[in-house]
Amino acid sequence: DTSAPHHGRSLLSEEEIDTHLYGLAGPRVDLTDRTFVDHFEDRVREVPDAVAAVHGPVRWTYRELDGRANRVAHALLDAGVRTEDVVAVVMDRTLDWIAAALGVFKAGGVYLPVRPDFPADRVAAQFSRSECAFVLTEPGSATLARKAGELTGRAPTVLSVPEIQASGVSDAAPRVPIAPGQAAYIYFTSGSTGAPKGAMCEHAGMVNHLHMKLDDMEMTNGTAEVVTQTASQCFDISLWQFAAPLMVGGSVRVVDTDALLDVAGFLDEIVTGGVTVVQIVPSYLEVLLTHLEQHPRPLGALRTVSVTGEALKYELVQRWFALYPEIKLVNAYGATEVSDDTMHEVLDRVPDRDFVTVGRSLRNVNTYVLDQDLALVPLGSPGEIAFSGVCVGRGYINDEERTREAFVPDPFRDGTRMYRTGDFGRWLPEGRIEYLGRRDEQVKIRGFRIEIGEIENKLLALTGVREAAVVIDGTDDGQRNLVAFFSGGDGGARPDAEPTTERARDFLAGLLPEYMVPTYFHRLDRLPLTENGKVDKKALIRLAGTL
Ligand code: ADP
Repeated sequence: DTSAPHHGRSLLSEEEIDTHLYGLAGPRVDLTDRTFVDHFEDRVREVPDAVAAVHGPVRWTYRELDGRANRVAHALLDAGVRTEDVVAVVMDRTLDWIAAALGVFKAGGVYLPVRPDFPADRVAAQFSRSECAFVLTEPGSATLARKAGELTGRAPTVLSVPEIQASGVSDAAPRVPIAPGQAAYIYFTSGSTGAPKGAMCEHAGMVNHLHMKLDDMEMTNGTAEVVTQTASQCFDISLWQFAAPLMVGGSVRVVDTDALLDVAGFLDEIVTGGVTVVQIVPSYLEVLLTHLEQHPRPLGALRTVSVTGEALKYELVQRWFALYPEIKLVNAYGATEVSDDTMHEVLDRVPDRDFVTVGRSLRNVNTYVLDQDLALVPLGSPGEIAFSGVCVGRGYINDEERTREAFVPDPFRDGTRMYRTGDFGRWLPEGRIEYLGRRDEQVKIRGFRIEIGEIENKLLALTGVREAAVVIDGTDDGQRNLVAFFSGGDGGARPDAEPTTERARDFLAGLLPEYMVPTYFHRLDRLPLTENGKVDKKALIRLAGTL
């Protein structure tokens, strides 16, 4: 019922909020009394000889992975790690890295992943900001860890994971109690909007999210569940990619970044590895589809493909279901600050509407769409998306100011904190949210309010357009222009209908009010991407300034 009163906080009772904004997500169920470590250790007892983790030819059982994680935990405890001490893991994506992360959790520490290919000053900034005093390394990353430690002026304790594994330290579970409200991990944002911030989340939010991944990906087949671990270790989605299968007795398959470039090889691994669940960013879905359209093949046990990180375009969904009507697509939406995803759109066919929503709230997540005074906007009107509930993380480590801006008291639920995403969206009648772009991309040009995301979505609808992004240039002298970038060659267009800048302009002029049609259009071979695989808008703004 979308005609009920809903504007302004005083009009809404808790029950009404539940009915209008939350009811469809199902009743609240506390899933947080047991942490991820508890669930993992249950599986170790139940299926010790089942395969837990695979990386190329390396294959570890639950018993083996657990033993290695326990050794790391004991070594950390012996080195003096206490509950909520930050432990950086500067390691490549290998099975040792997963054991190290599990070891940090088991020791009660806070897991901070760092990529060994990051520059030392960036690593040092993360160590300093998080007051990290313990670092786990491997031979290839020990020098970086030491150098970064020196730059901070307070050299942390550096422990080598291979040395820990070769030492005589116990492989029995350390049994350090972990409280649900205890901090679990920190991910530094990529800095796509300003300087990197260290978002810290708790075990309760982490395990709630993991349960929802298991539910919505229907991971009910225990040891038969196989999930690929493809994301960078510094992207928070890498966490559930290994943790979700380990919750149910399934296995994680680590896929190297290089191996993803060999699309046929990656598909071989999916088939031969019995992979059931894959998660990728939209730009990679596009790469996969382009390959599969030319070389169609069955995909073995694959049941669900989850897409995340940026808007999923409708056209990709159409192309997917044209090839694989029996494999679901899950559009997962969320932010690092709220323990990863907070909304899922589970698609088993092309949606009736001509765009893809970000779906419904995950269980125990409260979702609001707010105006700038943090009052609920009328259902269906655009506003900022905010989340409260178990998903909300601690905030940015040692950064009170930016924490205070984004993490505010929930105006609708006393004593609860709410995270303002900076994203715009609107409720659709059936409890789904339509994503409308980022707040920092919402602009006023000649007095008109413009949602950049809307222009991008329209441009993506032009035949042959593979990627599209719109940025604003010239913000200083008052003369602000919309600049559109796109790439073509998605295979949908005949050569004579390839999207040119003129075609793009004419197309948008036919669909949008004149003030929303970008002033400049540039076609690129490919749009630049961030290290997490999202369109790099900062790079495009710089590029716009030079073209
Ligand atoms: P980073 O800040 O490093 O890019 P996050 O994953 O925390 O990493 O980014 C969260 C933001 O990414 C969201 O606030 C939203 O703008 C965007 N995003 C994530 N998932 C989706 C999605 N499914 N559709 C549209 N945008 C998304």
